[in-house]
Amino acid sequence: MAILDRVPGDDELYIGGLFTLRRKEALQAAGITHVLSVLRLPLDETLFEGYAHKVVEVDDVDDENLLQYFPECVKFIQEGLDAGGGVFVHCAMGKSRSATCVCAYLIHRYGISPIEALMRIRASRPLAEPNDGFMDQLNLWEEMGAPGDLDQLPAYQRWLYLQEVKLSRACGQPPEADKIRFEDEHSQGSGVADFDLRCRKCRRTLATSQYLVSHQPRQEASQNSPKSPKTTSPACAHYFLDPLSWMRPELEQGKLDGRLECPKCRTNVGKYAWQGMQCSCGDWVVTGISLAKGRIDEAKSRAQQDGGAALGIRVPPSATNSKPGPGRENL
Ligand SMILES: [Zn+2]
Ligand SMILES: [Zn+2]
Repeated sequence: MAILDRVPGDDELYIGGLFTLRRKEALQAAGITHVLSVLRLPLDETLFEGYAHKVVEVDDVDDENLLQYFPECVKFIQEGLDAGGGVFVHCAMGKSRSATCVCAYLIHRYGISPIEALMRIRASRPLAEPNDGFMDQLNLWEEMGAPGDLDQLPAYQRWLYLQEVKLSRACGQPPEADKIRFEDEHSQGSGVADFDLRCRKCRRTLATSQYLVSHQPRQEASQNSPKSPKTTSPACAHYFLDPLSWMRPELEQGKLDGRLECPKCRTNVGKYAWQGMQCSCGDWVVTGISLAKGRIDEAKSRAQQDGGAALGIRVPPSATNSKPGPGRENL
């Protein structure tokens, strides 16, 4: 391993640690013109004289949101390469944060997977290893199409909300009311509406199948391989759901757990527990918002016929064309 390692491929892209910055001659020999610093430390500004310099202040911990900076890091790296210069990406050790940003670039530029990107870096820098949280963020980045802008993407907003819930769970608190994401107000959920979940007593539609949260029924997990998360199985006495707008009055009370009433007939139809709850199938489901199967009827979805509005579920107009295109074209 050299002082700074060139990422194999056609780009003048380099990765290394903090101390490399003091090796001016090595940086000069590599033709470095751009430096991307990915760390939260007071930096000696004189080290960056003569370079285009960008700092992304993050710590190397699992729950740090580095994903939010991927688009601007990609843009900075691309500008340096397009200008015919060399780009040096560093963190403290040249192990986790810098490797994550270089992976994000390679995924965006070459459409390769996070693992392929990491393997490419490791060919010259074997110690490169994004922490587990950053690896998850790279996977989501790839799934979203490595876009030029994240803010409007439902998948990103949903991830932010889940991070928030995780954080509150770690503190034993319910999430703050304004942080709860009522999924039907932002997106049409995932997949197509196969069936509706209706209140058995008054027939009010409480959810469509797109808002079901999948989990891994334990009793089937031993028989089935590979594992296939499901939204429901015969062993499950509950349907697990994302927060939906009709639950707002209850969920915004700031309680750790409670019951869910049908908004029309006030029958008790389910419960929630921010700490998560165990399904009768044995799996622990951390998005612990559920409807009891005994209180619910499944009906063939009406959504295909007359759109979500007829269900009393709110669907924003922006949710219809939310799939991101290939990242390169979005930058
Ligand atoms: Zn279950
Ligand atoms: Zn009802």
